Amino acid sequence: MTNITLTLGDITDQSVDAVVNAANSSLLGGGGVDGAIHRRGGPEILEECRALRAAQYGGGLPAGQAVATTAGRLPAGWVIHTVGPVWSDTEDRSATLASCYRESLRVADELGARTVAFPAISTGVYRWPLRDAARIALTTVRDTDTRTVTEARFVLFGQEAYDAFAEVWKGLQQAH
Ligand code: ADP
Repeated sequence: MTNITLTLGDITDQSVDAVVNAANSSLLGGGGVDGAIHRRGGPEILEECRALRAAQYGGGLPAGQAVATTAGRLPAGWVIHTVGPVWSDTEDRSATLASCYRESLRVADELGARTVAFPAISTGVYRWPLRDAARIALTTVRDTDTRTVTEARFVLFGQEAYDAFAEVWKGLQQAH
């Protein structure tokens, strides 16, 4: 069973087997988590991303899917890149956001990763409301079976995100 933990901090500081990147579909870098990972991890990560674009992901990585690369100089074994959906007022894209977590865990399993750090996917530039994103993230990870992952660590950047995840998690546990 996967133990879910919440931490206030920077995902690039985490010593874990795999760090999940809230990438964009180009795989060629961006702001937020993506920018921090490439800055701190160094050029090796981008090189592998370019190679993925040249091979199976010529059109980019579709939202809801996940793919792994080296973690370069990060204190982690791998980076699992996943592309969150952009928040929409008119279309329910929750299934795509849930898929990001499920597919990342599937890739983690393939790698044999035991500890995995997740950011709050889609809650930055992609504007997903925090509490709703927290509900989708936490229920999806809780309900996804894995073979190797023993800890899924949500790394929340800022008190507001941490509090949203902590409250939603508390509510989910009380509901059980
Ligand atoms: P998206 O494009 O999926 O919205 P972002 O990277 O813009 O992704 O933001 C996702 C979440 O990650 C936001 O809540 C943002 O505050 C947070 N974040 C930004 N930098 C970091 C970091 N270094 N470590 C952990 N979380 C971060």
